[in-house]
Amino acid sequence: MAAEEAASGAPEGAGAQETLSNLLHEGRRFAPPAALAEAANVRADAYQASAADRLGFWAEQARRLHWDREWDQVLDWSGAPFARWFVGGRLNVAYNCVDRHVESGHGDQVALHFEGEPGDRRSVTYAELQREVCRAANALTELGVRAGDRVAIYMPMIPEAVVAMLACARIGAPHSVVFAAFSPGALRSRIDDAQAKVLITADGYHRRGSVVALKPNADEAVQAEGGAQSIEHVLVVRRSGQEVPWTTGRDVWWHEVTERQPDQHKAESFDSEHPLFILYTSGTTGKPKGILHTTGGYLTQVSYTHSAVFDLKPDSDVFWCTADIGWVTGHSYIVYGPLSNRATEVLYEGTPDTPNQGRFWENVDRYGVTILYTAPTAIRTFMKWGTEVPARYDLSSLRVLGSVGEPINPEAWMWYRENIGRGRCPIVDTWWQTETGGIMISPLPGVTSTKPGSAMRPLPGISAEVVDVDGNPVPNGAGGLLVLDQPWPSMLRGIWGDEERYRQTYWARFADQGYYFAGDGAKKDEDGDIWLLGRVDDIMLVSGHNISTTEVESALVSHPAVAEAAVVGAVDETTGQRIVAFVILRGGNEEVATLAEELKAHVAREIGPIAKPRQIQVVPELPKTRSGKIMRRLLKDVAEDRALGDTTTLTDASVMELISSKLPHATD
Ligand code: ATP
Ligand code: MG
Repeated sequence: MAAEEAASGAPEGAGAQETLSNLLHEGRRFAPPAALAEAANVRADAYQASAADRLGFWAEQARRLHWDREWDQVLDWSGAPFARWFVGGRLNVAYNCVDRHVESGHGDQVALHFEGEPGDRRSVTYAELQREVCRAANALTELGVRAGDRVAIYMPMIPEAVVAMLACARIGAPHSVVFAAFSPGALRSRIDDAQAKVLITADGYHRRGSVVALKPNADEAVQAEGGAQSIEHVLVVRRSGQEVPWTTGRDVWWHEVTERQPDQHKAESFDSEHPLFILYTSGTTGKPKGILHTTGGYLTQVSYTHSAVFDLKPDSDVFWCTADIGWVTGHSYIVYGPLSNRATEVLYEGTPDTPNQGRFWENVDRYGVTILYTAPTAIRTFMKWGTEVPARYDLSSLRVLGSVGEPINPEAWMWYRENIGRGRCPIVDTWWQTETGGIMISPLPGVTSTKPGSAMRPLPGISAEVVDVDGNPVPNGAGGLLVLDQPWPSMLRGIWGDEERYRQTYWARFADQGYYFAGDGAKKDEDGDIWLLGRVDDIMLVSGHNISTTEVESALVSHPAVAEAAVVGAVDETTGQRIVAFVILRGGNEEVATLAEELKAHVAREIGPIAKPRQIQVVPELPKTRSGKIMRRLLKDVAEDRALGDTTTLTDASVMELISSKLPHATD
């Protein structure tokens, strides 16, 4: 079943007869550190204030930005599910992220500390960033790019990528960033979908100690026959210095065209609903969707949430979000949120294990990173590598830790808290999506007493509910489906060029109530705090009980031998589905004959016999999207002995062969 269908129709596995089981219990609580609470950007009263006047609250947040013309109306929801926020307002995103800070006297503050994988370094101040963005905006204009034209960006994690995005925003040309490790085919289909006029890329980049060529992939995507036809120019940044194939007339060196431009450019103001970017989802559940975001509401929410959730203090913090700019996390929390808040941040080109497994912690130490935002997949990898790696580094600068991308298993959360935060730093587990544009559910570091594994509450100004299959809110202590029952400023404005798919995917499931259906399962615990339980498509139905993959995985990860686990429900004649688990062991653990039995017993003890996996397979790796998320649907294909579904966003296809060869195909 295609993911789009699953998301719009009745959720697979979530039978109509009952809500999701609420199996895992967690008693640990961590209060915010007193000093942080005292000086926090956002206090507890924000919840009441925003609940009393939600639109007034967002209007107040919008005033964080510079508007060339103020809005006439905060929200127009009359065309639901298409929202218009800050109607009639006009602003320029690049001006807000760069020029404004130079004008207020902060031109010498470092915006980006760039750390190349080979160890080359460069710090870019806000004044330098302003000049570079102006030059790039002039260059794009010279190449014929006008407001409304689409620009594809296929670049590594280098400052020019940020400059390119801001230059597009400055001239009102929506960008479509495509992750640099994607294939020419994936790039081509994204260029075609958006009909992009210009492609910005690089000669190559550094990854895992070697130089990866990028330009030949870009060429393949736009080549004359069968390639993307809309591209008029390919702008090439010199990063790796390698020889590149060249098409005269079409290809232009970035440095040649930008160097001859004036370093001043007048930022035009755009309508609050002017398109800012198109970005494709990760493809965890199926074919990626081209999500459209616009200007005023998006910038308001990413700016507010970045300040509130990370407690950013622009004069003293050093922020590091380890995501790639190819994902929404990079858009919202490397580029637009932090820069609109005048953050100083780290931009790292490479992988966590080059030249050694301590590279992240070396970066934290070198730049004095105070706020670190990373993903559960990275944390579980660090668990696998062992505690002795981070223990070698001075991590005392850290004060807030963030997590995003997948549910974080309580044991991974504890590991992060103890081994990276050294027991001092609050963890903000942030739930959101490409579609939501900004963070929606998260603790506030100076307010919330956190629980390992819970994203806790919707942020001030945000309204979310956990409902049953009929759309009724579930009581505390029960599980169901996560919905957003009120529009929010940075919500998607559609799927590019496909209005019907937008309505079907997000709004058809609870059409009567007018809820946005996120596609995720969740539970409300006894206190009403929210726990994300993974994709609704992944929920298992075992002997009449809906069981979440996340809970079983978290139980497995709470065993000292397990670093990472992926669980799927495979068809079973007697029980409906049987639970099949794939586990990766923690560093120093060997696979022993008794392990599977021991893990089964452990799960039964932790959450109950009903959740006991029927099969457990130790594997060296799990199939992940290029954004690092586990692709359970492929494991399910293996467990059910079927041909694999769409693998275009899979990091490494050979992983699947390895797993498939290890799994006994008999249904034992
Ligand atoms: P696709 O929509 O193409 O299947 P995707 O959903 O993985 O891909 P993203 O928009 O990158 O694409 O990811 C959003 C999803 O990631 C959420 O719907 C949720 O399932 C998961 N997620 C993100 N953050 C969290 C979190 N803190 N806790 C639990 N799940 C999270
Ligand atoms: Mg999704």
